[in-house]
Amino acid sequence: ATAQDPYDVVVIGGGPGGYVAAIKAAQLGLKTACIEKRGSLGGTCLNVGCIPSKAMLNNSHIFHQTQHDTKARGIDVGDVKLNLPVMLAAKNKSVSALTGGVEYLLKKNKIDYIKGEASFASATEIDIALLEGGNSQVSAKNVIIATGSEVTPFPGMEIDEKQIVSSTGVLDLQEVPKKLVVIGAGVIGLEMGSVWSRLGSEVEVVEFLGTIGGQGIDGGIAKNFQKILTKQGIKFSLNTKVMGAEKKDGKVVLAIEGAKDGKKSEIAADVVLVAIGRRPVTKGLNLEKIGVEVDDKGRIVIDSEFNTSVKGIKCIGDVTFGPMLAHKAEEEGIAAVEYIHSGYGHVNYKAIPSVVYTHPEVAWVGKTEEDCKAEGIEYNVGSFPMVANSRAKTNNDTDGLVKIITEKSSDRILGGHIIASAAGDMLSEIVLAMEYGSSGEDVYRTCHAHPTVSEAVKEAAMMATTGKAINF
Ligand code: FAD
Ligand code: NAD
Repeated sequence: ATAQDPYDVVVIGGGPGGYVAAIKAAQLGLKTACIEKRGSLGGTCLNVGCIPSKAMLNNSHIFHQTQHDTKARGIDVGDVKLNLPVMLAAKNKSVSALTGGVEYLLKKNKIDYIKGEASFASATEIDIALLEGGNSQVSAKNVIIATGSEVTPFPGMEIDEKQIVSSTGVLDLQEVPKKLVVIGAGVIGLEMGSVWSRLGSEVEVVEFLGTIGGQGIDGGIAKNFQKILTKQGIKFSLNTKVMGAEKKDGKVVLAIEGAKDGKKSEIAADVVLVAIGRRPVTKGLNLEKIGVEVDDKGRIVIDSEFNTSVKGIKCIGDVTFGPMLAHKAEEEGIAAVEYIHSGYGHVNYKAIPSVVYTHPEVAWVGKTEEDCKAEGIEYNVGSFPMVANSRAKTNNDTDGLVKIITEKSSDRILGGHIIASAAGDMLSEIVLAMEYGSSGEDVYRTCHAHPTVSEAVKEAAMMATTGKAINF
């Protein structure tokens, strides 16, 4: 594309937001390019996030279950041993299969995939420092910035990705650390803490707040979740601030302080995982030069149609407002392209699911009880324990519950919160119900197959609406 013959859409970043936007644009007949500097497509999610973490979660769960939970099922196994290099290789294989798959999809949709780092020369011209060396420039009628996020560093703590690691290094430890200390009880801390705990590490999670699970989790669910993880052997030090780290005799010694009482102490670890959040990536884009507004947290400011402060430049995903989730970035990618194509797009921010992929999983959508109280909404809660669900019982997999919150006056579903081994998948029907504005009654009068774990969703909805469930 040249200044005389520009692309209709240039997407900067090939993560879940960017690559999905590029495919949608091409499918709508727009001439499209996608610029990615990483050398592979799929962004944080496929390369160092969702996918490798889920590979490690799944395989560490199978390892742990084979070790501890086969005898009563009538399966006698011999010595169960961990082969960490093979487990890491299996993870890498799932990553390369999926990133390769995205590259194939871009080709199939006739999108120009440009490997290099993009920087704005003007609002319509983008310079690219090519990975293969040299520079190039493209012109665009519309640009979508989808440059994502990166690990928030801990001030004064240097991440070497061996002893002091981020989410990237923790996915690639070459030995099982004897003691792993995790800073931050958010999603990354709990998922990766679970992985290494199952593989044999002693895991301690240090969290500044008094609860675990990160933003948006229901208070009761968070407490229940903490109990389950504690039972699995993970230790929690809540209301505790990490002040700094020092390497001493092959260990990392963390200085900690009680957030409430100011009491000082130390914890020694073989490996420390820093998981205190992520921050937007805009460095090198030259946004100041073209006048794209960024807020005090480094996020690119957008309006409800994904427009930045510069005409013709839109922005989606982790680099702008909202939860940093792959599926949220994807929804925005499609909607932003639809705005370009037809002037109309839509994302329902009230129905974006969150899932923590521990065992059991924890999944939620919509309002928590705390939200309802804060907003003065009168609500009903229907809560159904997995131990009363026949399928969970037969599977001997009964940790957790389904909790559905409905509006008292209308029975409309306001939120759903699940702890169960398949919570992420079970949640989808509550997300769909909320998308359709369903009532608790709509859900409980829908026939659910027996025996399935999803019957717990039906029972929780019945409980919210009528005050009673059948099997509990
Ligand atoms: P990104 O995926 O970060 O992609 C942005 C891309 O832009 C990057 O590849 C980057 O190289 C490229 N880029 C940046 N600047 C430039 C430039 N100037 N020129 C060219 N290219 C550039 N989310 C979930 O929903 N589910 C999960 O299970 C989950 N697990 C996670 C586990 C971990 C360990 C981590 C770290 C994250 C996880 N996430 C998960 C979050 C998820 O990865 C992000 O929300 C998602 O990747 C955001 O997509 P994005 O397209 O906005 O940005
Ligand atoms: P997070 O925001 O979920 O959690 C960070 C935690 O660290 C918070 O609980 C915070 O209170 C705590 N913290 C901050 N500073 C601290 C300090 N000095 N000492 C002790 N604790 C401190 O962030 P994360 O876990 O790093 O994850 C980053 C992003 O990646 C999240 O936005 C999440 O949505 C995304 N992600 C999603 C998934 C998933 O969907 N399953 C998985 C992994 C990551």
